Amino acid sequence: MTELAPYAAHSEQSRGRRFAEPPPAYRNEFQRDRDRIVHSTAFRRLVYKTQVFVNHEGDHYRTRLTHSLEVAQIARTVARTMRLNEDLVEAVSLAHDLGHTPFGHAGQDALNDCMREHGGFEHNLQSLRVVDELEERYVGFPGLNLTFEAREGILKHCSLRNARMLGDIGRRFIERRQPGLEAQIANIADEIAYNNHDVDDGLRSGLISVEQLTSIPFFDEHYAALKAAHPGAAPERVQREVVRRMIDTLVQDLFRTSEAAVLEAAPLSIDDVRSMERPLIGFSAPFAETQAALKRFLMDHLYTHPHVRQMTQQAHETICLLFDAFSADYRKMPAKHAERAEAAEKRDGRSGAARVIADYIAGMTDRFALQTRDALR
Ligand code: MG
Repeated sequence: MTELAPYAAHSEQSRGRRFAEPPPAYRNEFQRDRDRIVHSTAFRRLVYKTQVFVNHEGDHYRTRLTHSLEVAQIARTVARTMRLNEDLVEAVSLAHDLGHTPFGHAGQDALNDCMREHGGFEHNLQSLRVVDELEERYVGFPGLNLTFEAREGILKHCSLRNARMLGDIGRRFIERRQPGLEAQIANIADEIAYNNHDVDDGLRSGLISVEQLTSIPFFDEHYAALKAAHPGAAPERVQREVVRRMIDTLVQDLFRTSEAAVLEAAPLSIDDVRSMERPLIGFSAPFAETQAALKRFLMDHLYTHPHVRQMTQQAHETICLLFDAFSADYRKMPAKHAERAEAAEKRDGRSGAARVIADYIAGMTDRFALQTRDALR
């Protein structure tokens, strides 16, 4: 294995875990983080959580689980090429969506609406809550007790209000500083993955067409080149090959641009990286625009497509129905959660109980949320 760059996250110099533990015997600290994530209950639930298409719509669409795996693959390639810590980017990528509600962004928006008077709901912060508090697998501590570096990467966005309550891990949002390069890579790999796989899933579903997509020069370039080189190829193969080439081109630009930025900034350590005002990992201006164009296209044609909107509406109704029913009667939740809500209400009032309810709903898979809704009606 090539040696890590001096400004990479070095596991032996980790800022440590919230609860001290003896070092792992055969793995480094970040490999242990990754393994704890893979063994968690929240990770297994990702298979039944929506990316864009609800799980029961078809077997070939991305779910949160396959999305997370794709993010990890892209992030690992970039990290390895840049001599950064591949184990850490893998851990962060696999964990980044653990806090996602059922029904994708529609579910997150709905739960945020329900929680408006109780501090809101942010899915990034929820991912951190899952690994810090909600997983129950170890006798010595709550959550997964991950390293600071993994937690730093998982919390990619955070409101200032919440950042102030998070202590160490929230400080960078207040001071407008950066996380380590591994966290920056996982963040952008997430964008590359979803933009491209949503194009792929969108085409598969028939909700968007190649003709529409050729309005994006980046797509059209690859599409035209492929059609010219392989005039007899099956359309589905050409479409998938375009997506593959778009990912490859974006990753190459990301690598080249970021490598140049690192060279220029010349950080000597991860703390140098953290103290910077801007991230060092990013696209060149033309490719940043390409990414933005893909995102706009998906927003205009896929995420707001009447079929997807219909699902969004149903998601909103389901989440609100669950939240209202549990708020009116905690005992409509399983005993463990009901007892937690009662204790939280005694301690922190209605908002404390609301947080327990939000945790319970956020943990649900799409199908469990629908089953629970049907049982309550
Ligand atoms: Mg994601």
